[in-house]
Amino acid sequence: MISLGLEPAAEECSRAGCRASASWRIEWRNPKIHDESRRKVWLACDEHVEFLREFLGARDFPLEVLAVGAPASAPASAPAEGTP
Ligand SMILES: [Zn+2]
Repeated sequence: MISLGLEPAAEECSRAGCRASASWRIEWRNPKIHDESRRKVWLACDEHVEFLREFLGARDFPLEVLAVGAPASAPASAPAEGTP
């Protein structure tokens, strides 16, 4: 068997055929098949982040675009909201 090189590349763009290193992480879910806590993650390079975001947005999937390396769903500099 020949390895197809499918070992999970840490930070490679998810766009088909693109091998560029990713700068962005798109977290999304399909409400029809994923429950509230599920998140799919796509990685995107600068060139494809718009394409992938629009691809998902066109399907009305909830999504969030984060910089690679940013903590999930919580920008480090954002003040905490609703803390008693
Ligand atoms: Zn790309």
